[in-house]
Amino acid sequence: MAYQTVNPFNNQLIKAYSNHSDADIEATLRQADALYHSEWAKGSIDQRLPVLHKLADLLESHQEELAKIATQEMGKLIAQSRSEVQICAQIARYYADNAEKFLAPVKYDTELGDAWVEHHPIGIIMAVEPWNFPYYQLIRVLAPNLAAGNPVICKHASIVPHCAEAFAHLVREAGAPEGAWTNLFISSDQVSAIIADPRVQGAALTGSEKAGSAVASQAAKHIKKSTLELGGNDVFIVLDDADLEKAVKTGVQARLANAGQVCTAAKRFIVHQKVADQFLRQFTDAFQQVKMGDPLDESTTLGPLSSKDALETLSKQVSEAVQKGAKLHFGGKPANSEGNFFEPTILTHITRDNPAYFEEFFGPVAQVYVVQDDEEALRLANDSHYGLGGAIFSRDIERAKGLASRIETGMVYINWLTDTAAELPFGGVKRSGFGRELSDLGIKEFVNQKLVVVRQ
Ligand code: NAP
Repeated sequence: MAYQTVNPFNNQLIKAYSNHSDADIEATLRQADALYHSEWAKGSIDQRLPVLHKLADLLESHQEELAKIATQEMGKLIAQSRSEVQICAQIARYYADNAEKFLAPVKYDTELGDAWVEHHPIGIIMAVEPWNFPYYQLIRVLAPNLAAGNPVICKHASIVPHCAEAFAHLVREAGAPEGAWTNLFISSDQVSAIIADPRVQGAALTGSEKAGSAVASQAAKHIKKSTLELGGNDVFIVLDDADLEKAVKTGVQARLANAGQVCTAAKRFIVHQKVADQFLRQFTDAFQQVKMGDPLDESTTLGPLSSKDALETLSKQVSEAVQKGAKLHFGGKPANSEGNFFEPTILTHITRDNPAYFEEFFGPVAQVYVVQDDEEALRLANDSHYGLGGAIFSRDIERAKGLASRIETGMVYINWLTDTAAELPFGGVKRSGFGRELSDLGIKEFVNQKLVVVRQ
């Protein structure tokens, strides 16, 4: 893919970037491998953690500049871009403060003697990342791996090269040595060659199933660990005893934030029949209030999709869903604009034979299903190829907890949307991928959990 910055608000090309060559890749691998074998990576964690502290400070002091770059490059509302930079700073600081504790030796009781597990870096990690959270996706990989001592090579999405460069620049400014984080503008074939290289020990991908499958099979072929954070078709269940006002307000945010381009966005609203009419009325009213416009304008509440391709894909999905019998309750088409805007949209009456039932809609399109009881809600929730997150709204926490335990996803939130925080594990099951990022679990994905036993 060609690496270019095109403003999704007006489709103007801002800048094209040159791809890196195979010679650049070899130089990167050599440098990263040398770093992995150096005292910096293998020695005390105290040398590495100050970089993350400094990076957190730099992210905060450059918040406005970074936010504008992201908004111009992929269309996120400026306030949401600022929040993204803030959470990146929190993640950097979280690992700076906690990585030593997470990587400390863990004692095991055994009759064989004194036993413990140590945590050591394993080598270079290849990271492949998407555009929808152009900094947050990077810090999720950088922070734990830098703390652990694994050098990372990153291939970012081709539509966010400016974010990729800005991030890499800050990591260097924070004091990371050359090779700790290298951004490369490369093709899928070059990613594949990097994964095959014996100096590389792992691959982390966030993105589509297609890309995930390509990267994970290449990793498996060469016997390397991988983690996949893929798509989702998350439910937002509203039970008959829910605080409806809160459910509507949170539901709108859960579907429209980032113009609906979030893996954990609420995509399927499953509403108890007793409250369905009222929910739908209020939800539709809220969609009607949405103001589309320039994402740099603070008063805009829905920005453009990230690219022309994304707009075309979503438009096709909605048309096909309607052709196959779904009812268009609200919106349904691209907005009349030079940018990549799609109207906030609500679809109802989606049957199981409609492709929309199983597809992920990566944009501001809500599907609403009406169910008779909790069991039907659960059946519908679990009738999905994906298993990322989900939300349940109910005043009866025990009832909601019972459902949460039975939903087949990696994350469930009660009375809140599927969210993220540095200290909480993030990831899914089924075709949403495997492995976890963030928290103590995230830092253990790419370390050697080495057992040492002293026989008495
Ligand atoms: P995508 O096409 O898979 O792109 C993601 C990254 O993979 C990009 O850097 C892309 O590069 C690269 N890529 C694509 N094909 C590849 C291949 N064969 N080999 C190596 N790299 C390859 O995904 P997208 O459609 O832009 O992103 C949206 C998807 O990501 C959605 O399904 C969303 O749910 C998911 N997502 C998941 C999470 C999570 O944490 N679970 C978070 C965010 C997004 P190019 O840009 O050069 O094509």
